[in-house]
Amino acid sequence: ASFDDLGLSPKALAAVASLGYEEPTPVQERAIPLVLEGHDIIAAAKTGTGKTAAFSLPSMDKLGHAKGERGPLMLVVTPTRELAAQIAEVCEAVAKSTHHRVLSVVGGVSYNPQISALKRGTDVLIATPGRLIDLMEQKAAHLDRVEVLVLDEADRMLDMGFLPSVKKIVAATPKTRQTLLFSATIDRSIEGVAGTFLRDPEVVEI
Ligand code: AMP
Repeated sequence: ASFDDLGLSPKALAAVASLGYEEPTPVQERAIPLVLEGHDIIAAAKTGTGKTAAFSLPSMDKLGHAKGERGPLMLVVTPTRELAAQIAEVCEAVAKSTHHRVLSVVGGVSYNPQISALKRGTDVLIATPGRLIDLMEQKAAHLDRVEVLVLDEADRMLDMGFLPSVKKIVAATPKTRQTLLFSATIDRSIEGVAGTFLRDPEVVEI
């Protein structure tokens, strides 16, 4: 298989080249066309499978640009600061081609720079659940323009007790959004979450 056959635009293919990827991984091959077509997906994919590019390449390829202070148009919720940093790195590489603004907000660091950055606006927001809830409560983060919502490592978020936060975050996004759920394992509790947050999802298992 080749990245050329997945429906990505020339600018996204330029991002693939700059990331140094030669062939899509299995989850990328399955997920990229589905995401470009606008489907919700539930993907069973562990760290190391290339899941980050599987959601960021197609989502950012078709994402518009938030004007000025509006946004974010894409939100990635992930359980840990380390994962947020890895995701931000891939999204920033893709953004060099797609010209999106990428911001990440995580816990354990001061609020003010995050609040200022949110005020300036972003297209893509990467966040850990607790900090995002705090910023929403401070009226610094507004999710009413989100078109693509990614729930990354959903099983780990449930294990860490983030379900109530994730529910609040999802409820603050438009019902018309596209939702992409990634989880290392898909069990009954993940299926329950998928049943409430996703619309007619395609299942990607590799
Ligand atoms: P992830 O599963 O998103 O954490 O990605 C795991 C690692 O695989 C990262 O270091 C990526 O840079 C790398 N990677 C992702 N997609 C590809 C690809 N198509 N070809 C080669 N390496 C890749």
